[in-house]
Amino acid sequence: MSSPTSWACSTACPDAPVRSAGGAATLGAVRSLVVPELIEVEFYRRLAERTVGRPVAEVVADDDWFLKGGTTAAGLEAALVGRSAVAFRRRGKLLLVDFSGDAGSADEGPTLGLRFGMTGRLVVDGANAIDELIYSSRRDEPIWDRFTLRYADGSSLRIQDPRRLGGVQLDPDEERLGADAATIGAAGLRDLLAGSTAPLKARLLDQARLAGVGNLIADEMLWRAGLDPVRPAGSLSPAELRRLHRHLVATIRDLVERGGSHTGDLQSSRTRSGLCPRDGAPLERRTVGGRTTYSCPVHQR
Ligand SMILES: [Zn+2]
Repeated sequence: MSSPTSWACSTACPDAPVRSAGGAATLGAVRSLVVPELIEVEFYRRLAERTVGRPVAEVVADDDWFLKGGTTAAGLEAALVGRSAVAFRRRGKLLLVDFSGDAGSADEGPTLGLRFGMTGRLVVDGANAIDELIYSSRRDEPIWDRFTLRYADGSSLRIQDPRRLGGVQLDPDEERLGADAATIGAAGLRDLLAGSTAPLKARLLDQARLAGVGNLIADEMLWRAGLDPVRPAGSLSPAELRRLHRHLVATIRDLVERGGSHTGDLQSSRTRSGLCPRDGAPLERRTVGGRTTYSCPVHQR
C-alpha cells in the first residue's frame, strides 16, 4: 500500500487497522498503539539523546524495504560505523541524527533520518519512551526490528515497526518538510493556509507545509479552536487564524505534558456514539484528508 518513495507523506495513509480481522494475533501487542505524531517523536528524540557520543560499531539494516531514497545497508555501514551521534533533532515526525565528521576535517558528518510511519517505535537500550507512558504491554518483538545501530559499548538503538511503514534514509532532504508545527509562528500558519480551498484539516496534515500534525492533534486543536475541519483552509478570518495558532501551540504543549497524542480532551469521545465534551452534542464522524475525523457540529464552525 505504501511505496519506498511515498514514505515522507503520512497524510495518505489510512488509520492503522488496530482491530483488523485475522490480524489480531500478530497485532495484539500493538492494539493500543498510538500512531506516532510530533509528540511521540519528540519523546523518542529525548530518549535517543542518551546515545550521543557512543561510537557506532555495527549497522543492522537487513530489510531493504525499510531503506528509503536510495539508501543501502552497505552505504549506512560505510557512513556510520566509527562515528558517534552529536545531536538528535526533530522536524515534524522526522527524527534526525547528526553524526560526527571526520577527525581533523571541518566537514560535517552524515545525517540519518528516522521515520516511524503508523506503527514504528524507537527502542533505546531496551527501553521505549512511549511504552513506559501508555502501553499495557511492553512486549519487545525482535521480529519487528527493522533497523538497529549497535554501539561499541554493547548498547543499541532500534526501530521496531510491525507494518514497516516507517523508514531510514541517509542525508534526507529536510526541506521537503514544512515548518515544524511546534515552533511555527502565527504569520507562518496564516501563510500556509492563505488562498487554499482544501479542507482546513487536510492542509494542517500536509507534512510538506506543516510538519508534525497528525490525525489526533489535528482533531483536538480544531475542536478546541471551534473550527470545522472541512472549512476551506483559506476562509479563516484574522481572528480565527489567531485562535487556531493559539490552540495549535497550546494543544502540543498540553499533550507533551500529559504524555502523548492520545491524551487530548476529545480522545475518549472518538467513538461512533461519542458526544462533544464541551456541549454534549453527538459528534460527527467523517473522512477528511484521508483520515477518520471527529468534530462537533454545534460549536465547530
Ligand atoms: Zn461541541
